[in-house]
Amino acid sequence: MYIRSLFAQKPCVFSLEVFPPKQQASYESLQNSLRQMAELKPDFISVTYGAGGTAPGGVSTCQIASFLKNELSIEPLAHLTCVGASEEMLRARLDELFAAGVRNVLTLRGDKNPERPLQPPFLHASDLAAFVQSQYGSFGLSGACYPEGHPESASLAEDVANLRKKQQAGITHLVTQLFFDELHFYRFLNMARKAGVDLPVSAGVMPIVNQRQIQRTVALSAASLPPKFTKMIARWQDDPDSLYQAGIDYAIEQLRGLIQGGADGVHLYAMNNPQVARQVWQGIADLL
Ligand code: FAD
Repeated sequence: MYIRSLFAQKPCVFSLEVFPPKQQASYESLQNSLRQMAELKPDFISVTYGAGGTAPGGVSTCQIASFLKNELSIEPLAHLTCVGASEEMLRARLDELFAAGVRNVLTLRGDKNPERPLQPPFLHASDLAAFVQSQYGSFGLSGACYPEGHPESASLAEDVANLRKKQQAGITHLVTQLFFDELHFYRFLNMARKAGVDLPVSAGVMPIVNQRQIQRTVALSAASLPPKFTKMIARWQDDPDSLYQAGIDYAIEQLRGLIQGGADGVHLYAMNNPQVARQVWQGIADLL
């Protein structure tokens, strides 16, 4: 099933995101986590793609997407980046996904990396999308979007204008970067609609439940932090149990607001953690 078609079937599409473990040894544990996540009946699960492809000895995006599709009957959305990739490499990845029965791909450029320079014609996600669309008509295409603007864009307006290029290239669904303040999401959506971007948008939310995430995700993310969020961190950062619960509660409140505010879809950055996914889901299940 194409992910785009899910949006015609229900008011709010619920999805999760997971990432491939670096070691094959962790695959069994991820499979168990995915089985638990399957009980939440997500409409789809997206699987990220490492910047350099699969780490040696790691689990591939395709392996996980295939498990979701063929063992758990959950629609996978396989991420694919084109930074540093040749057409041959991309064809190999796409053929592999197709053979595994995967029909939905999140086409991305990936972060710029001097060691893996961009290879024409794949300079942007829209170039990858256009390639997949022309060479493999049978994939449903999703793309990334940024409620606060992509850091490389001079302005949100410029970034939104570029989103039209993704739409024109064949992308039929968007997933947002994580954000902690819904105002950014609504402002972005308003601008996108005015600019003629009429694709369904899944709003990405990441529960921040531990110190490590504060140090890594929050510090590295370009997302702005509203006072309510910084107050939560300041209050609980030295109390792991309370921080965990506060992070779950914050995500639930954000998601409930988004669903009630008419978001086409909500996408939970579940960080391979079935317990977090379940607790957040329990707080929103009555709205789904
Ligand atoms: P692009 O769409 O190419 O955008 C990059 C910049 O170029 C933006 O400033 C944009 O405005 C501009 N631009 C876009 N199109 C054009 C155009 N046609 N002409 C001129 N300018 C243009 N990274 C990974 O490595 N693996 C993942 O699995 C992964 N998953 C992600 C999932 C989501 C939901 C999001 C939001 C990001 C994800 N990323 C992932 C990170 C992503 O690869 C980076 O944010 C990267 O810097 C940009 O990727 P993009 O696809 O948005 O690029």
